[in-house]
Amino acid sequence: MAVFQVVRLGEDILRDKAIEVKRINSNIHKLLDNMADTMYAAKGVGLAAPQIGVPKRVVVLDAGDGLIELINPVIIEKSGKAVDREGCLSVPNVTGDVERAQKVVVQALNREGELMEYKAEDLLARIFQHEIDHLDGILFVDIAQKVYRDE
Ligand code: ZN
Repeated sequence: MAVFQVVRLGEDILRDKAIEVKRINSNIHKLLDNMADTMYAAKGVGLAAPQIGVPKRVVVLDAGDGLIELINPVIIEKSGKAVDREGCLSVPNVTGDVERAQKVVVQALNREGELMEYKAEDLLARIFQHEIDHLDGILFVDIAQKVYRDE
């Protein structure tokens, strides 16, 4: 079990475009394990590799139905629109109303290197979009219609 400190807003790595994974090896497996441990320890529903200081296109998420691991994820379809409140482990004590696609289809490699396709809607679709944004240096506060700060 390896729990990492989550990188906070203000660190450059959150703004960089993460690099595609070329080869899925034991380092990537270890990264996925560390990311899941860190996400669960922080009680988050998703985590992108840059959030633990690793500039690679790797995401983990769990909306309550089990762990999903994504390597080089790409959104191939988007439909509908929905606005809902979001938060982020890298932006503590802040939430915001963000408009996202209501449904998405995402392609990504799994840890075995197989190309997987995920169809998601509502909360799960929102998490996919939020986490994939992290890989392009985009944070929810950049695109939120309204931001709320906890007292
Ligand atoms: Zn986030």
